[in-house]
Amino acid sequence: MGRTLAVVGGGVIGSMIAWQAARKGWDTTIYERDPAESASWVAGGMLGCMGEARPGEDTALDLARASARRWPDLLTALADPTIVVATDTVLVAADTADAHELATRADYLLSRGLAMKPLRGRDIRSVSPGLGSSVRGGYLAPGEGAVDNRALLRALRTAATQVGVTTRTRHVTDLDDLDADQVVVAAGVGAGRLWPPAAIRAEKGEILRLRRPPTAPPPPDNVIRARWRGRLVYLVPRADGVVVGATQYEVGVETDPEPRAGGVADLLTDAIEVMPGLAEYRVSEVGGGMRPVTPDALPLIGRLDERTVLAAGHGRNGIMLAPITAELVVDHLDDTVDPRWSATLDPRRFT
Ligand SMILES: Cc1cc2nc3c(=O)[nH]c(=O)nc-3n(C[C@H](O)[C@H](O)[C@H](O)COP(=O)(O)OP(=O)(O)OC[C@H]3O[C@@H](n4cnc5c(N)ncnc54)[C@H](O)[C@@H]3O)c2cc1C
Repeated sequence: MGRTLAVVGGGVIGSMIAWQAARKGWDTTIYERDPAESASWVAGGMLGCMGEARPGEDTALDLARASARRWPDLLTALADPTIVVATDTVLVAADTADAHELATRADYLLSRGLAMKPLRGRDIRSVSPGLGSSVRGGYLAPGEGAVDNRALLRALRTAATQVGVTTRTRHVTDLDDLDADQVVVAAGVGAGRLWPPAAIRAEKGEILRLRRPPTAPPPPDNVIRARWRGRLVYLVPRADGVVVGATQYEVGVETDPEPRAGGVADLLTDAIEVMPGLAEYRVSEVGGGMRPVTPDALPLIGRLDERTVLAAGHGRNGIMLAPITAELVVDHLDDTVDPRWSATLDPRRFT
């Protein structure tokens, strides 16, 4: 078999695949229509394993843990100190119902061998001093950090170029037009247009970037994930401020990223209650993006035919899942994939 590879999509999934495939000797080209429209560009950058866990979603947790184990080596290889922005996560709650939901999640994680540390009263404020008075309690998820997704994308692009990956600006409409021995479709919510049976829906999310003026309190050192009167809001530190995310609701169409006023209002209200010092920050970006979600909250990773591999549908956790995804895709290309994952993530499982 020849070793030329075309990757459609230059988000975090396509870029990570292209870099890893080229490191394994594939002569790789990325075809990307517009990187600014990718979910990877707007995302918060949390590497959520415990924070994204849902009771019952055991396989999703196993996949996230497998990916979490691969992050340290990848970050060492990328050698860019601006990528990592936090190394721990604090999960907090507002009212009794929120606290109950968090406790249920902590119990579930413990049953799967992952312990979060309970934090109450003074403890929680010593870990994260800027939290507001409505924060009752929470948990520390040690070692669960975050990356600056834009720094990551730039570093991936640089690393890929260094191992020979070429990037072409092109809107791919027919995979047969691509001059390559093998093709990987990593087009996020766009994957369904290239392989229509793909069980991918679009879940919209609004997200804000706030910049800290010199006189305002500093951003948190950790990721703060809040369950806030039934809603979710998270704060992810950046060198110049904080990312506030993110709403989530299905819209069912491929692209409708324009932020809704109501979503933005909810995020600002909740974020300022969680960390009152943010009221002084400047709103430098109001963004929206489309998460590619699947019916079982697991991505679609696997062969469609002898020439084509699909890697899409990473939902809320695609940045986190990029390392394990790239490894599985390269294993599919080389015909060495672990049978457990090839069956579970088979893209045809809903068709
Ligand atoms: C608001 C928000 C916050 C998020 N926060 C987090 C987070 O904190 N942590 C986390 O792990 N995940 C997060 N996610 C989810 C994460 O962003 C996605 O799961 C991930 O980015 C998906 O990556 P991808 O490469 O598959 O898709 P994308 O990043 O969407 O990239 C797909 C690329 O393919 C290109 N493309 C599509 N069709 C074609 C075509 N026909 N021809 C050429 N190019 C094409 C698009 O232009 C796009 O650039 C968030 C998502 C959103 C929306």
